[in-house]
Amino acid sequence: MLGEILKKEDCAACRFCCSFRRISLWEVPVFTKENIDAIKENPTLDESALTVIIKDGCTLAKYDLSGNYKTKDADEEVPCPYLGVNGCLLSDKEKPWDCKIWPLRVMNKGGEIVVALTPTCPAVNRLEFATVKEFVDTHLKKDIIEYANEHPFLIKKYRSDFPII
Ligand code: SF4
Ligand code: SF4
Repeated sequence: MLGEILKKEDCAACRFCCSFRRISLWEVPVFTKENIDAIKENPTLDESALTVIIKDGCTLAKYDLSGNYKTKDADEEVPCPYLGVNGCLLSDKEKPWDCKIWPLRVMNKGGEIVVALTPTCPAVNRLEFATVKEFVDTHLKKDIIEYANEHPFLIKKYRSDFPII
C-alpha cells in the first residue's frame, strides 16, 4: 500500500518483513477464509503450511515457524513459507491483509483503534514521518480502519514502540 512512497529496489534488497525472528512471531500474518480458500485452489502452493484457527466464529489461519529455528541466536530469521526466490508467491487474493498494509498496523490502544507504523522497516525509516503520515492520512487511513473494523481479528494489541499515524 505504501508502494507509491517506497522504492521497489529497497524491498528487493531487504525482505525483512517476510522473515521472522523469534521476538517477531506475533507479527506472522493472519490469513482470512478468503485467503485460505484461494490458496487451497492453487496447486502450486502448500496449504499444509497453514494452521486453521476458529476465532469469534471466523475461520482464520496462521503458520507456525517456532520449530524452524536452527540456532539459539535471537537474531536468526526464518522465512515465511510463501517467500519464493523472486519474492512473495501469493496473488492478491491469496495474500494476507497484514502483508498488504505492511509496514502499517491497525492496533487497539486502550479501546481506540489506531493506525500505527512498524518501526523496523528500513525503507520507511529513511522517509520523514510527516511524509508517511500525510500519505496514509490522505490515501489509506479511512479504508484501513474500515476494513479492520469489519475484520476485528486483524487488529493487534498496541505496542508502545509503534508510532501512531
Ligand atoms: S521491511 Fe520495508 S524495505 Fe524491507 S522489504 Fe519490507 S517493506 Fe521493503
Ligand atoms: S505471505 Fe508473502 S508478503 Fe506475506 S510474509 Fe509471506 S512472503 Fe511476505
